Amino acid sequence: MNCKITTIPGDGIGPDIVREGCRALDAIGKKFGHGFEYTEVKAGGCAIDATGEPLPKESLEACVASDAVLLGAVGGPKWDTLPGAKRPEKALLGLRAGMKVYANLRPALMFPQLSAACPLKPEIVKDGLDILIVRELTGGIYFGDRGRNAAGDAAWDTEAYSRPEIERVVKIGFESAMKRQKRLCVVDKANILETSRLWREVAESMKGKWPEVELSYMYVDNAAMQLVRNPGQFDVIVTSNMFGDILSDEASQITGSIGMLASASLGDSGPGLYEPIHGSAPDIAGKDLANPLATILTCAMLLRFSFGLSREADAIEKAVSKVLDAGWRTGDIAGSAADRAALGDRLVGTRKMGDLVIAAIEAL
Ligand code: NAD
Repeated sequence: MNCKITTIPGDGIGPDIVREGCRALDAIGKKFGHGFEYTEVKAGGCAIDATGEPLPKESLEACVASDAVLLGAVGGPKWDTLPGAKRPEKALLGLRAGMKVYANLRPALMFPQLSAACPLKPEIVKDGLDILIVRELTGGIYFGDRGRNAAGDAAWDTEAYSRPEIERVVKIGFESAMKRQKRLCVVDKANILETSRLWREVAESMKGKWPEVELSYMYVDNAAMQLVRNPGQFDVIVTSNMFGDILSDEASQITGSIGMLASASLGDSGPGLYEPIHGSAPDIAGKDLANPLATILTCAMLLRFSFGLSREADAIEKAVSKVLDAGWRTGDIAGSAADRAALGDRLVGTRKMGDLVIAAIEAL
């Protein structure tokens, strides 16, 4: 298979981790006989420096014309004082809207080898932690009407959803549940919000198509609590833009390893947008300290969702697991100062971690 991928290295650690993601893809290509063709474009702070725009038109055009887009991260202190519309993060909203990706899939997965990093009590996560949050990405309060009154002392933001907007993302929730433990929880605030009541109505009207999926509902305040109290009860959560934003951050934090978590944003057709969940980590940029595993695991999602290459995606995930089994760690997943000291030369940097994953792919 020949795969056209647009890469957006972005800012901070972005270029280093995207480089390692592409090297892992190339190792997969070599092993399984696929060709990956990359087109690199600018977005974020580096695009502002080069063109004055966070997302130049040509960058978006290249993304839309490719099969999949791999994004590192954007932003950094250098651009923090710019006005909202000119900030690097504006590129993210522009990409999501321009690529029409309306569902954000974020697995919150605790790697058993890294369970010590999980901030929850061991008995709460003794059976592991593997939740998929499907967040609606292009509707709701982040995109609704907003404003202020003339005096500037009152403001509003509007949460609005239409049936088709809900249907398409809930469908992704059902389909994802079918590939996992067959449990789907719609998270909402249906005791108060009319939009939430419509979410429930839509999910109810759809459930007949997936009779094997156990469908449940939970209020968002309870879900926030249950995620730290009994996260094992969740398989797939589907929810609105703002609730998903908050819950997916909470879920990723309880795994304890921000440098390990991947995400995919998908639409009906057209390329998917794939990115690690962490930011551009300006504090460690250019020091060969970034953990590239979130990006490498993001590449596994890219293979699975955009190209249907599940054997190849499994190979990446297995290779990462083998590297962790053998005790190799980057600084962010190395544990306490004493654990770090005990690691010796198994405490490695970005490129070496990439080398190890490639070697593990070759050895599978
Ligand atoms: P961050 O995720 O960049 O960093 C938080 C902490 O985690 C830092 O200590 C960092 O060193 C560490 N970290 C993050 N990724 C790591 C990795 N791969 N390996 C090792 N350590 C890692 O979040 P922040 O500090 O809040 O934001 C920094 C910049 O990134 C800001 O400009 C922010 O707007 C931007 N940001 C971008 C995205 C994106 O592009 N999708 C997402 C979040 C934040």
